[in-house]
Formats: sequence, C-alpha cells, structure tokens
Amino acid sequence: MTRHLRMDAEDFLPDAVWRRGFRRRLAAWFTRSARDLPWRRTRDPYCVWVSEIMLQQTQVATVKPYFERFVRAFPTIEALAAADEQQVLRLWEGLGYYRRARQLYQAARVIVAEHGGEFPRDRRSVRRLPGIGRYTAGAILSIAFDAREPILEANSTRLLARLRAYRGDPASTAGSRILWAIAEAVLPRTKVGAFNQALMELGSTVCLAKAPRCDACPAAALCLARAAGLQAAIPAPKPKRPAETRREAAVLVHRRGRVLVVQRPEGQRWAGLWDFPRFQIHAHGPAAIERELAEGVERLTGVAIRLGGHRATLRHGVTRFRITLACYDAQYVSGPPANHSSSTMRWLRPEELDAYPLSTTGRELARLLLVRSG
Ligand code: SF4
Repeated sequence: MTRHLRMDAEDFLPDAVWRRGFRRRLAAWFTRSARDLPWRRTRDPYCVWVSEIMLQQTQVATVKPYFERFVRAFPTIEALAAADEQQVLRLWEGLGYYRRARQLYQAARVIVAEHGGEFPRDRRSVRRLPGIGRYTAGAILSIAFDAREPILEANSTRLLARLRAYRGDPASTAGSRILWAIAEAVLPRTKVGAFNQALMELGSTVCLAKAPRCDACPAAALCLARAAGLQAAIPAPKPKRPAETRREAAVLVHRRGRVLVVQRPEGQRWAGLWDFPRFQIHAHGPAAIERELAEGVERLTGVAIRLGGHRATLRHGVTRFRITLACYDAQYVSGPPANHSSSTMRWLRPEELDAYPLSTTGRELARLLLVRSG
C-alpha cells in the first residue's frame, strides 16, 4: 500500500528540466509583478508570522489595515506577550476566526518563556507553537530565514494541482501527500522565501479559482491542465454542505444606565469575546418568544428580566449558518443568585463597550446603544 501511494506521488513530480524552467519563469514574473504588501517590506519573523496567521481564510485587502494596526500596537513578540488578551482580541475584532488571535498570543508567551523572545528557527520548535501547522511553519521559516521548506495553502494548492494536472481531491490524505511532494520537489536551493511567495502570488492573482488568466501566466507553456483543457475541472470541487438557516436572539439588559455583557466561554463560537446574552430561539408568537427570551437570559446569566421592545434585526453568516438575529431591550428585575459566577459577566456603560472585544454584530448593537443613549 505504501509503495503504491509513493508511486502515485511520483507520477506527478516534475523532471529537472521542468523544474528549472518553472523556477526561472516564476522568479522573473515575481520580480515584475510582486505586490507591495506591508509584511513584504521586512523579513522580521514576527511580522511574517502575524501576516501569515491573519491571511488564513482572509483576503489580502482585508488584512492590510489589521496588520498595520496590530504591529503598531505590538511591535515585537515581547510586546505581544506582555499584552492583555482582551487588547489582542479588540485589535482582531472584525477579522473573524478569533482562535487565531488567541493562539498567536499564547504562542508569543511561549516564545518569551522558552526561546528568550526570539522566534525559533528549527521546524520542530516552530511546529510546537500554538496555531502553527505545517503550512505556517514552512511559510515563516522560508520567508524569514530562507529555510528550504515547502508551503501549501489554498492558492499554491490550486496552482500546483493545475500545473501537474492532479485531478483528485487535494484535501484527501493521498491528495495532500501528493501536493506536498510536488511543493517540495519544485523548491529551489536558494531564495526559497521569494519562491514560495511567488507561488502564492501567482495562485492568488493569475491562477484564479473560477477564471484562471492563462494568457497572462508565466507558466502557461508548462501547465498540464492548460494543455489538456482541464483548468475548470482542477482542483476537484469540494462537496459543499448546504447552508442552514437559524434564528437567534440578543438581549440588551438595562440596569441603571448600564447594560449586561457576558464573556463567551471556551469551546464556543467567539470564545474570549464579550457579547450581549445571545442564544438560539425556536418559539413563535410574542408570548412564547417573551418566555423563551426570559428563560434564555436567566439560564445564561442568572438574571431575571422584564422584556421591552424589539430593537433591530440583523442578518449575518457564521460558517454555513445563515443567522437572523432578533435584538430586544429588557429591564433588569433581579439576580444573579449569590452562587452565580460573575467573573465572566459585567454591567457596563454603553461607552465602556469600546474597550471590549465584540463580534461584528455585537459591535453593531453597541453602536445602536450609543446612538440611542448619546
Ligand atoms: S496556465 Fe492557467 S491553469 Fe495553468 S497555472 Fe497558469 S493560470 Fe493556472
């Protein structure tokens, strides 16, 4: 079985002539076409690392201002490690996938505690840091230190799969092994960081998912998918889980000019962020909804409420869920009981919410609160 799989990978590996031609064309194209991105102006491993984490699942244009703000606030690994996690999350607010920010912060603390604040240069130590997988380790080590490490993310996966006409599922075990083997085989001996960045750049700006710009591609003459007219079929489309609709409610509980917020617990969406009491609802009809909201707030916080009016309805998506969020005002009546933990609950004046990391819809509600109370 192992031998069979290894032979599979070999079927897709390019020969020396192809590799040389590809590296030459890619390097010449990157010299002409590389975008000027803030994280490309330095090889500081910290900046490379922050940018790589932010760029996971997020577009370059979205990341730019976040990256600049983040490294201005925390210019070094030591500064990040010495920060408060809430500050880190506040600067990450709106980028989504908040686990990335928490792991970045935890990893900075590990680097200070175990590596004297210097980003480690060996693969094993890097891979042990929270939030750093094979791709991110390869990207940081190659870009910052020119280590001969391959990379494979969405853009280079698509590019390499097309160049070598790999028609299987890149996310399968065999697909991942074959594509990593190709990524390793094409690596040059020197200037590995520039090469890896060029791979990603070509994937993201020319070898586009829906309509690859083959006419502008420096590797067109080497591309097996293009030769066979298979660009649209590679990579094999992922089976999509259908979107699910869901109703949720957020309740703005008021008490003497303050409003109740709770910190999202570990293991839940937006862990570490603060939020107004929010939960899924199922009831229909005003009386049933009122009962469900009161029970929901009490279950979450121990606080008994008297429901006021409906304030807004917000629509948003989280992964495959299409959420309709109904937002209500409520007045505090009593509670929480003495045995209820309060470290994750606070009563804040609306303007104090500015210092707290909130989800995008949470921030929208905070703004509505300010407009009304201002
Ligand atoms: S020729 Fe087209 S499909 Fe092939 S790598 Fe270039 S852009 Fe992608």
